[in-house]
Order: sequence, then C-alpha cells, then structure tokens
Amino acid sequence: MNETERATKQLCLIHRPPGARFFMTSGRALAVFWLLTVSIFAALYFRLVPSDFVEHVYAPTVLAAQRAILGGIASLVPFSIAEVLVAVFGVLATIAVSELLWRLVRRTDRLRRGRWRACKTFAWVSLAAAWLYLSGHGIALARPPLADRLALPVVAEDARATRLSELGLEVARTARNARLEWTRSSTTGDGTDVPASERLAIQRDARTALLAILDTVAPECVLPPGGVKACYPPRLLMRFGVSGVFSPFTFEAHADPGLHRLEMPFVAVHELAHVAGFAGEDEANFIAWLACSRAADPLFQYSAALAAMRFLPRSSAIRAEAGSEVAADRVAIANHWKQKRWKVTSKVQRFVWDAALKSQGVRTGIASYGEMVELMLRWRLAPRTSR
Ligand SMILES: [Zn+2]
Repeated sequence: MNETERATKQLCLIHRPPGARFFMTSGRALAVFWLLTVSIFAALYFRLVPSDFVEHVYAPTVLAAQRAILGGIASLVPFSIAEVLVAVFGVLATIAVSELLWRLVRRTDRLRRGRWRACKTFAWVSLAAAWLYLSGHGIALARPPLADRLALPVVAEDARATRLSELGLEVARTARNARLEWTRSSTTGDGTDVPASERLAIQRDARTALLAILDTVAPECVLPPGGVKACYPPRLLMRFGVSGVFSPFTFEAHADPGLHRLEMPFVAVHELAHVAGFAGEDEANFIAWLACSRAADPLFQYSAALAAMRFLPRSSAIRAEAGSEVAADRVAIANHWKQKRWKVTSKVQRFVWDAALKSQGVRTGIASYGEMVELMLRWRLAPRTSR
C-alpha cells in the first residue's frame, strides 16, 4: 500500500462511525458473522432454539418468505440452479485454495501482506451459504415434532408390539394389492432406465399427491410452483448412496434420474416435503408415505408401501402377506442400488450425513429416517375425522 492509499484509508476510517470502523478495518466482520453462525449451529445442537418461536413466528414469516421467493425463482427455469451454484462454489474453493498455497510457498513476512481476495470472497460466500442453509432448513429442524403439531395419540407401550404387527401386515397387504393393480394397468419394463417422459410425469404427479394432503398436515403451507428436478449427470447421487436432495439454498427438490421406477414416486414426494417445511427425515418420509398411499396411481401406492417396508420389522408373516412378487421387486431394487452405488463414497456420505444431522439436534442421526414408522403408528390411532 503506498502513501496515498494509506492516507485515503485513514480518512475513510475517521469519517465512519466506530461500529463501521471496527468492521471495515480487517476481516473482523467475517469473524464476527462466522462466530454468530457457529453459535446458531451450537444452539441447534444443544436444542436451545425455542420450538414455539420457530413454529409460530419463524416458520410463517421467514421460512415462508424464503420458500416463496427462492422457490418461485427456481420454478422459472427447468434446470437445477443449485447444481450451477455448487459448480461456482467449487471454482471459488479451487481459486481460494490456490491462493492459499501460493502464499504459503512465499516468504513468511509476505504472508501478512496482500488482500487475500480469493480466500475472503470464498469465506463470505461460504457464510452466505451457511445462513441460507440454517434459515431454510437447519432452524426448521427445531420445529415441534410433527406428531405434536398434528396432535397424534401416543402408542401405549403394552400395545406397541401388536400395533406394529398390524401395521406391518397392513403395509404388506397394500404392497401386494397395489402391485397387482399396477402390473394390470402398466406395460412398463423392469424398473431401470425409466424414460424421461415417464419420469417427468412421476415428478409432476408427486407434486399433485403432496398438494392433496397438504391441507390436512400443513394447511398454512403454500408450495411454490414447480416440482422435482433431475440431478445431472444421472446416477451421480446414487454413487454416493443418495436418492434425492433438497437444496435449501434455492428451495429445489431433486431426485436422481437413475432411480428404480418403484422408488421414484416416494423419493420425489420426500424431497418436495422438505420444500414444504417438513425438515426432519422421519417427517419427510412419513409425508411421502401418506401422500403416495392416497394417490390414485397404484405405482405411487406401491412405492409408498415398498419404502415403508424397509423400516418395518422383518417377519415371516409380513413376507407371506406381501407375497413372492413383492419380494422379487425388493430384491430388484436392492440389486439396482448394488450396481449404481460406490461402496467407499456411500460409506463416507452416510458418516458425514449422520454427523451433520446429529450436529443439528437430530439425536438419532441417519436412523431418524426409520422413525417414520412411529408416525405411521400414531397416525393409525388418530380419529378418522382428523386424518
Ligand atoms: Zn430428506
């Protein structure tokens, strides 16, 4: 910095109020905002975010506005804006790391000089991403549990085993019947390589299915236009053992186009449920099951039953009730995943996602997906008038 620049900077600092001077003098603003962000993550971890505030103040205002604005913008284009942002983020990260390495190989006294432009830009962009994540998804995890929001009855402990067995048999029966109806009405192939036209129809119908139950489970929620988008390249998410992704940065729901046909409806509604504010994985799974079960299309009903069966206790009675054809379809889906999933990346993804969920106050981490069964049990006990 030469003399003129130094004098200009000094003049600017003198004419700013003390607060602004603090933020302008260095990367302190960045440090303060990052500290605040980490504090919010810590508050989520220790469950210090008041759930009533989130439910009655935050969700109807900030979350609803974010959903309407970001979801509205995302619906204007057919491609995933989130994927473009991820690519830009990757480029920025590469430039920032290059700058860091370049400075590290130079002499120590020069480490303190310069503007660290790329690193600072990356830090600001990361900060914005962290805030969008927190405000669009993280804080929504602190809402009161869906079972409480819907005032669902509690399952008596002494009746739990019986109720679970009844539910398992009911789901297995639904799977068998829906499969029968689906094979009668459909001439589609083996489930893999679903044509784009059919995939788009499933994605469109997923939105319709969710809208049909939204009045019952979240009457205040307004779903933004647009539906589920495909992630490209196909099967990339599946390599990591992921079937779909919700982007809280853009309020877009994504599903991998390489999914088995029988999984597509359930995954599509699950991701849309996140857009609608059902942040917990158990809640999104339950909403997907409910919406798909009530849809007129037997493919959706079958998809819901197959997804639920993954989390229900295994028993010979349930297997017998579902029948051999359902069992064969379950094996086909498992084989489809075996072909597409990479072992190492899937394990890393599971570990990271489990830790991420736990860090945001979801104590059971990745096992929370299976807690949809508890919601299903309680839903069955609710009076028919409230469901
Ligand atoms: Zn999810």
